[in-house]
Amino acid sequence: MSKYQENQLFIYNTLNRKKELFQPLNPPHVGLYVCGPTVYGDTHLGHARPAVTFDLLFRYLKHLGYKVRYVRNITDVGHLESDADEGEDKILKKARLEHVEPMEVVQYYLNRYHESMKALNILSPSIEPLASGHIIEQQAMAEEILSKGYAYESNGSVYFDVLKYNRKYHYGKLSGRVLEDLISNAQSPGRTDEKKNSVDFALWKKAGPSHIMRWPSKWGEGFPGWHLECSAMSRKYLGMQFDIHGGGMDLMFPHHECEIAQSVAASGSDAVRYWMHNNMVTINGQKMGKSLGNFVTLEELFTGSHKLLDKSYSPGTIKFFILQAHYGSTLDFSNEALGAAEKGLVRLMGAVKALDRIEPGAAGSFNILEFEKKAYRAMNDDLGSPVLIAHLFDTARFINSALSGKDSVTAADLDKLRSLLRLFVFDILGLEEKGDREMGDLAAKLVDLLLNIRLEVKNNKNFELSDRIRNELTGFGIVVKDKKDGFEWEMKE
Ligand code: ZN
Repeated sequence: MSKYQENQLFIYNTLNRKKELFQPLNPPHVGLYVCGPTVYGDTHLGHARPAVTFDLLFRYLKHLGYKVRYVRNITDVGHLESDADEGEDKILKKARLEHVEPMEVVQYYLNRYHESMKALNILSPSIEPLASGHIIEQQAMAEEILSKGYAYESNGSVYFDVLKYNRKYHYGKLSGRVLEDLISNAQSPGRTDEKKNSVDFALWKKAGPSHIMRWPSKWGEGFPGWHLECSAMSRKYLGMQFDIHGGGMDLMFPHHECEIAQSVAASGSDAVRYWMHNNMVTINGQKMGKSLGNFVTLEELFTGSHKLLDKSYSPGTIKFFILQAHYGSTLDFSNEALGAAEKGLVRLMGAVKALDRIEPGAAGSFNILEFEKKAYRAMNDDLGSPVLIAHLFDTARFINSALSGKDSVTAADLDKLRSLLRLFVFDILGLEEKGDREMGDLAAKLVDLLLNIRLEVKNNKNFELSDRIRNELTGFGIVVKDKKDGFEWEMKE
């Protein structure tokens, strides 16, 4: 029996608003599509959360024995400043301001995005398609929707006819929006210059004279509407129907609602079987936004160079912090919370390393089979990473008491515990051991260097500086003990 037959994985399907048993269309194959970033700026916390969430899903599905095709797109064209098909293309604007080619903007920020993903130990998706590389597929889908009568051409652009679609299908079923409200709340309700109704959205937009990113089409030169790329590319790589579509909750409307409408209009049925959305990130209780001055990039977190940050936080800490909350809850970033995650991660990694120092003995009080069951149960319950981490901390407590001789564990159980802990910590949660150890060696040498300098500082009777060095190291979880002939230090566990 495969692991996925032994484990019943339940996931919260945003479309049906309930937890459902995950049953892929064609096991062991699983198709997973996640909306990736629009690459016109640095990777920030709002990118990190979906990346970590769907990395956890990808890793767990693979562990269960599924063969997962994970498609995560890159938006490099067509994402306009406003959702109402107005404003400049975000990438074009950046290119204009910086006097560079649009593709230079794309490449620069895509490279940086990949570096951030690597730092967070996020696995690469199976396919990472660019919207600009799939213009023909998008044009073909727009034509298909036109031929089914759910779109119309207007002045060189093609718009989706939301009202006509809603007469047969349900526009708003994912996000819970009500079409009548959308119509009456629109900034300029009713017919516009080009649209039959302002709620209609672009499948293809005519390019103005200064618009550089343009492609020929039967409707004239233009570019695809933002929502179309995901419908066209998911269909190309995962088929007419596929298992899971993920993304941030902010994409539910209009992006994912429009994706559903496009696929249903083109083929008559839903493409996606399970919709999954990660909740939003807040900072000190506030929504993150450029205008609010609390917009924090990953690089600023890794270097501590943002006015809201007391210090820098490692990629491992950021990842652990994200995993300590369930993906469906909001996640509030604050220095206190990040500091607590940092200490928690040191404790957990310390326990994994301490396993190698335990002398096996008689059977102890810890029930390893029970831990295994509880760990799987946590993951099977809609990727319950916070519950899993709580069980891992229980295990860490046991390891520490076995290490100090207060408890004991047999050699066979020790092996079992070692492999289980490594499985959940490294393979499934995707916390990093290698980087940690490599960094650990360098960090250890730097601590030695600093403490040798401190000895000289003390010999010169500069006690203020010597105390400061010790206190700051304590802040990093390093305990310094002064000895007659030098010093000793250890990481707190
Ligand atoms: Zn998308």
